[in-house]
Amino acid sequence: MQIETMKLRALLILLFFAFLASSAQAGVSPISLLYPSQHPLGLFTSSLQEQQGPLTPAEAEALYRAGKFTATTTAVPNFGIGARPAWLHLAVNNPTTAPLTRRLVLENTWLDHVDIYFSSAGSRLSTYHMGDALPFTSRPIVGRFFTVEQSFAPGTTDLFIRIATPDPMVVPLYLLTADAAREREVRQEYTYGLIYGSLIALMAYNAMLFFSLGSQRFLFYALYLATFLSMNLTYTGHGFAWLWPNSIKWQLWSHPLLIFAYALSGLMFAARFLDTKANFPRLHRGLIGYSALFGLLMTAAVALHSQVYALLLSFVFVFLFSIIMLVLGTVSVRAGYKPARYFLIAALAAMIGAALTTLSVWGFIPFNNWTYHAVELGMLLDATLLALALAYQFRVGQEERLRAEQLAQKDPLTGLNNRRAFYDKTAAPWSMAQRSGRCVSVILLDIDWFKRINDTLGHAHGDKVLVAIARLLQASVRQYDIVARWGGEEFIVFLPETSPDEAVQLAQRLRAGIAQLHIPHETGETRVTASFGVAQKEAGHATLDALIAAADHLLYQSKQEGRDRISASHFMQCEARGN
Ligand code: GH3
Ligand code: MG
Ligand code: MG
Repeated sequence: MQIETMKLRALLILLFFAFLASSAQAGVSPISLLYPSQHPLGLFTSSLQEQQGPLTPAEAEALYRAGKFTATTTAVPNFGIGARPAWLHLAVNNPTTAPLTRRLVLENTWLDHVDIYFSSAGSRLSTYHMGDALPFTSRPIVGRFFTVEQSFAPGTTDLFIRIATPDPMVVPLYLLTADAAREREVRQEYTYGLIYGSLIALMAYNAMLFFSLGSQRFLFYALYLATFLSMNLTYTGHGFAWLWPNSIKWQLWSHPLLIFAYALSGLMFAARFLDTKANFPRLHRGLIGYSALFGLLMTAAVALHSQVYALLLSFVFVFLFSIIMLVLGTVSVRAGYKPARYFLIAALAAMIGAALTTLSVWGFIPFNNWTYHAVELGMLLDATLLALALAYQFRVGQEERLRAEQLAQKDPLTGLNNRRAFYDKTAAPWSMAQRSGRCVSVILLDIDWFKRINDTLGHAHGDKVLVAIARLLQASVRQYDIVARWGGEEFIVFLPETSPDEAVQLAQRLRAGIAQLHIPHETGETRVTASFGVAQKEAGHATLDALIAAADHLLYQSKQEGRDRISASHFMQCEARGN
């Protein structure tokens, strides 16, 4: 049973190829209406391009009968940009005994003039004039594409289509039942819903990022997405259907102008993102020159009312734009700019997509669902990767700022807080102590005879001593105490919620610890001592500086009394810890 079916299938395939071969030799065969097809019908058509002025339908039909039409060799006929008007012929066969109704769908939105003639046995059945040079509302069947409904009587019906347009003359033709046509449409509209939804969400998100963070990169990115969206709305026919159904002039010019705007905003975003002005000034000037040149040419095309010229310019501009994006990405990656890696992959995706679609629409590679929608897929990938790139760039910037802030707070030699950080970090606990009346102490210490160490053993060895003492201080205090290098060989410790006794005990431990340090050098080891001032916050200390001044005074007293000792203020009553 299975083998039987396989044999049958093989036979059918063979027959199919034989049929293809014979039809290629003996001209084009009619399409049977019983043959359900979701495929474009190019291979069933033949065509002729007008050489000297327009032909009447009768003249075109006569030329067809005289064998002057050429069989099409691709599923989707494509005559390129700015091509001469073309006539296509398709014979439709209804093998049944009853009329069958079908929709003829020309899945293209931008053809300026599409005239369709149905005839049978030499007599005209119906005529339709369509194209986006006519108001959208004049279409026999409302939709983005050029669609007509025709009842096919039993036997053969001849179909002649004349197309005249400066735009890429791509002709994906379908004959579908109303149900099949609707199903195709629904699938396409859902796909666009997904694409537009993603793009609009990304756009809105980046516009918000611009408003909240103020970085222009996000704005340029949102603009890039917006121009892509506008361009896409235009060439997919959504713009004509939804936004400007009666503005024929804009419908015709929107294509080249929005393609141009898309590529231009892409370049502007790239320049921002990669900061070409600062990083690659010569390249940057080149970009400006290139954009200005095409801008001028484009203006000239508009001024001269040359749609073909404008279209060719926009296509060349967008094609070169893709290559420029790649070059910019590569150059930036080479220069070691990390976020540019995302940019490069994004540009690559967009470029492959744009190139495939451009080439397919232009007629250089086969036009099919994948090549036609490649630009949208590429653009979605591009948009996602660029969003990632922006996020990455933002994070890198954030980290750099944080590192710079940290560096600005640290004493480079000892790694302790510097004076600025000391004030930053003590501000909150100080005002807390002010309000609660709890104890706060400050220990100020200064190394004794430090100048001698520098003078006898060298500055580098003096540094070593400072580092050793800094380590000791940091290791001896509690988590909430704040240690800082106050000056050259002077250190400070801020002790929140610490009783005077505890502060003095800590100072004693520090004094003993410093005295026990052995800092080795080439010929022996250094021993140092330090003098201490321990002050406790009193009612008279309106500011932290007043408390520090008191500690400084006590430190001076220690020096006066012979060094290597602690002087502390007379203690007042205060609360050491909260309950
Ligand atoms: P006293 O006991 O009165 O404090 O004597 P002293 O020598 O410690 O005091 P003085 O203020 O006369 O000298 C401090 C010395 O500390 C002078 C300065 O060159 C040295 N100094 C300051 N900062 C650094 C530093 O970062 N590294 C080194 N090696 N020495 C420093
Ligand atoms: Mg000293
Ligand atoms: Mg000193």
